[in-house]
Amino acid sequence: MRILLASNNLKKRDELQRILAGRGVDVVTPRELRLDLEPHEDGATFEENCLIKARTFAAQCDGPVLADDSGLEVDALGGAPGVRSARYAGPDASDAENRARLLADLAGVPEPRRMARFVCCLALVRGGAVLAEVRGTCAGRILAAERGAGGFGYDPLFLYEPSGRTFAELDPAEKDRVSHRGAALRELARRLDLVRK
Ligand code: IMP
Repeated sequence: MRILLASNNLKKRDELQRILAGRGVDVVTPRELRLDLEPHEDGATFEENCLIKARTFAAQCDGPVLADDSGLEVDALGGAPGVRSARYAGPDASDAENRARLLADLAGVPEPRRMARFVCCLALVRGGAVLAEVRGTCAGRILAAERGAGGFGYDPLFLYEPSGRTFAELDPAEKDRVSHRGAALRELARRLDLVRK
């Protein structure tokens, strides 16, 4: 089965494809299908943005569309960057610029108060029908300096405490086992009966 991802983020595509490997699912990006659409992600929640993205692409193609809206919530910042995670340091900010802004905003906040969580909402839509909507989370702590070279986004600052390592220090399979995206996708797969357990 081919599923269109409502995003051109190749890191996300790779994670989703990896987690769905062996289940006969091929995840393709809009760019690969020469679809050029810019959904207006102006929702107040991950769920709203997820449906905005999924519906925008589903209106333009026949098959199933999977949208991922994800981000980081930091307790000491009242839940920021939240739905603005991708553009925290500005509209076209790079991952490195977003991480620098996060470190600046948390300057002086002591380690015990740097609790955070990654959130991932997934929606699977076909035509006008929402087939499934799920949410996965992963709790951690924001370090005062980056560690590790893997992953993407805020991974080098996100300490996954049970392993004592940041998401950027975990190998991809380890990240998938514990991450917000892994949790959401396994739940989605369960709901769609893609996996038999
Ligand atoms: P979206 O593409 O609008 O959903 O934005 C998601 C943003 O949240 C990304 O640009 C990253 O900054 C951040 N993010 C989401 N998932 C992860 C992850 O697994 N690791 C690190 N950062 C993430």
